[in-house]
Amino acid sequence: MDFNNKSVVITGASRGIGAAAARLFAEAGARVALLARDGDALLALADEIGGNVLPLPCDVSDYASVARAIDHVHDEWGGVDILINNAGVIDPIARLSDADPAAWSKLIDVNISGVFNGMRAVLPAMKQAGAGTIITVSSGAAHRPLEGWSAYCTSKAGAAMLTQALDLEERSNGLRVLGLSPGTVATQMQRDIKASGLNPVSTLEWEDHIPPDWPARALMWMCTRDADAFIGTEISLRDDAIRARVGLI
Ligand code: NAP
Repeated sequence: MDFNNKSVVITGASRGIGAAAARLFAEAGARVALLARDGDALLALADEIGGNVLPLPCDVSDYASVARAIDHVHDEWGGVDILINNAGVIDPIARLSDADPAAWSKLIDVNISGVFNGMRAVLPAMKQAGAGTIITVSSGAAHRPLEGWSAYCTSKAGAAMLTQALDLEERSNGLRVLGLSPGTVATQMQRDIKASGLNPVSTLEWEDHIPPDWPARALMWMCTRDADAFIGTEISLRDDAIRARVGLI
């Protein structure tokens, strides 16, 4: 795939799926903006990738922080072609009766408002350009409750609705809006889930998870015309037909 001269913004790029996606898009020739809170990790990744990479420390739950980062990308590269809303947190993992209200709200701020903030910040210029792809990393948790994950499941359901709402409003303006549910992926998030010991996902073994490179490859495929039939929907990487389309099996 040729992503030369495409500007890609990836949130949650300091590790896990976001970092894997950053490496892959950069390899394919894209200019990649790395957003996350851990500035040192972003710098290390930018050094590793080399070339056209912008490490931009940013808290997605804070609109001003996201808007500053997107403005920076506009100043450097003239626009954003692709936004990957990938940043997300799983904590607090706790039954409703035990959940800390402030921590619960904070997760919602990151996993829902963070997705809105990314969309809102890139929209004016994408609309003006009449083009752009916005992909949000979702989860099977968006569609079913799991013990201890009330905040996470609620947030992912909300983020999935944001994908549908944005598609409804902006498809006619040339925007491609999609969601990706990756299945379980071998990242820090699964280490945290394992440590919680709270529901069946925590009983999975490391080998049960797919590598972060798989959702990264799916995200890249979703930016191509081959995925146009899925615009406005959420695709699942558990689906063998999708894995085959992406070239994973
Ligand atoms: P991860 O390794 O824990 O990475 C999460 C990323 O989000 C980190 O780069 C983190 O960076 C960033 N982040 C967290 N809070 C942030 C904030 N307030 N502002 C900016 N960045 C923030 O987990 P992952 O598995 O790669 O997760 C990526 C996405 O995939 C998440 O949306 C997750 O819900 C989704 N997902 C994961 C799995 C799985 O099995 N791993 C399954 C389904 C869906 P900083 O800490 O540096 O900010």
